[in-house]
Amino acid sequence: MIRAVLFDMDETLLDRQGSLRRFAAAQHATHQDVLGKLAVDQFVERFVALDNNGALWKDEVYRRILEENGIDSLGWETLLDEYVADFHLHCQGFPGLAAMVGELTGEGRLLGLITNGTYPFQLHNFHALGVAHAFSAVLVSEAEGIRKPHPDIFQRALDKLGVGPSQAVFVGDNPEADIRGAQAVGMKTIYRPNRFWPECPFAHAVCTELSQLPAILREMEAHP
Ligand SMILES: [Mg+2]
Repeated sequence: MIRAVLFDMDETLLDRQGSLRRFAAAQHATHQDVLGKLAVDQFVERFVALDNNGALWKDEVYRRILEENGIDSLGWETLLDEYVADFHLHCQGFPGLAAMVGELTGEGRLLGLITNGTYPFQLHNFHALGVAHAFSAVLVSEAEGIRKPHPDIFQRALDKLGVGPSQAVFVGDNPEADIRGAQAVGMKTIYRPNRFWPECPFAHAVCTELSQLPAILREMEAHP
């Protein structure tokens, strides 16, 4: 039996692109007097493009947007502080998240989360998804001092759940950090494709909608 299911957060459970867009639109409205020289859609799309799936940290994203538009009456520090404080207010999970979590725990499976990112920022974002109560282990890389794909962070999560790697599956969207990382400690993997990483041929299974996950796990158990 698959006793534990471990998840990545960003773009696996959390619709980060959609959440970023909602946050950026709200921030544009807050600073309408200054940012209003850009249309809201221009601001949102530039913010998301510069973020590049989290590759560029927000201090640089804001610096560039302000510089590109000749804005000097508002500091990037103000915008960054708001992002750190308020992004979680705009975080939403992918469709079917709560039902999927309920189904897995109802089947007696343990749930865990391993996310690369800053602490407590990522923890606040996770709690905003409304399913944290169902998770028995939550690891944020900054708090752990190690990041995926380092095997120790996967092993630490398995230890907290009290299961071995052969009894656990990892679900994630990053082929190297999530899929290769989990496979290196002996876990089976389920890939969540998106436009940044559309495929991952070495994952054991693919999950395009969260509602499919319970059936995918039962299929993996039937054909180990
Ligand atoms: Mg991710």
